[in-house]
Amino acid sequence: MRRKCLFGPIWSRRLGSSLGINLTPYKTCSLDCVYCECGITTTLTVERQEYILPEEVIEHLETYRRSPRFREHPPSYITFAGFGEPTLNSGLRRIIRFLKESFPEQRIALITNGTLFGLYPEIVGEIRGVNVLIPSLDAGTPEAFVTVNRPHPVLRFDQYLQGLITLRQHFQGAIWLEVFIVEGINDRVEEIELLQKHIEQIAPHRVHINSVDRPPAENWVRSPALPKLQKIAHALRGEVITVPPQSQIFCPPRSV
Ligand code: SF4
Repeated sequence: MRRKCLFGPIWSRRLGSSLGINLTPYKTCSLDCVYCECGITTTLTVERQEYILPEEVIEHLETYRRSPRFREHPPSYITFAGFGEPTLNSGLRRIIRFLKESFPEQRIALITNGTLFGLYPEIVGEIRGVNVLIPSLDAGTPEAFVTVNRPHPVLRFDQYLQGLITLRQHFQGAIWLEVFIVEGINDRVEEIELLQKHIEQIAPHRVHINSVDRPPAENWVRSPALPKLQKIAHALRGEVITVPPQSQIFCPPRSV
């Protein structure tokens, strides 16, 4: 069965025009984040496999490359994102190699929850060729990790952190770390102070502070008000990339 694995190009607030690649069936992930905009995780797993075959993805990309849509409006980025965790797909290396050969003008971005780098260090080698890596870290403590991200039982917070630190030492491209703040859970001063220490160790090139601006998986999830997000961004030496609903005067366009 052919599945839709490309979407867009859409306008991304961080990347500009971006074609998305989805590498997992809905909703296959190593986490079940309370804030996920794709809904509840239906397959919680850390098992890597070719959930969507690389040949299938490459075939879709070939068709897109030959289309007038691509010739007339080539995107700036091709981005791995979608309905789950892209690094769960063990065909990632092959698809990245194809992109480097066939889309030399496009930059490659990978949006990941970052949890698998500690479990499978080989992924760092597989993603050589990615220009911008956008991993997540939402917690200062194992408790907040469990509450906000509801990880697969084999995932340990210390291993996850170490995976991100090692990644920074070996990955050649840019790392933009994303921190998603949930009101009343990971916005406490003690939590932010610990997050600050972890971020210092990871040393990403940028830190993006995000929060709820679309319907989350759990309807009790709220964003702190903008001034609080700005204060957190200041403490974490990052920038706020969202406008919480209570601060919005219009609906922002959908973006990754
Ligand atoms: S890691 Fe991403 S896709 Fe997975 S549950 Fe969290 S927000 Fe959703």
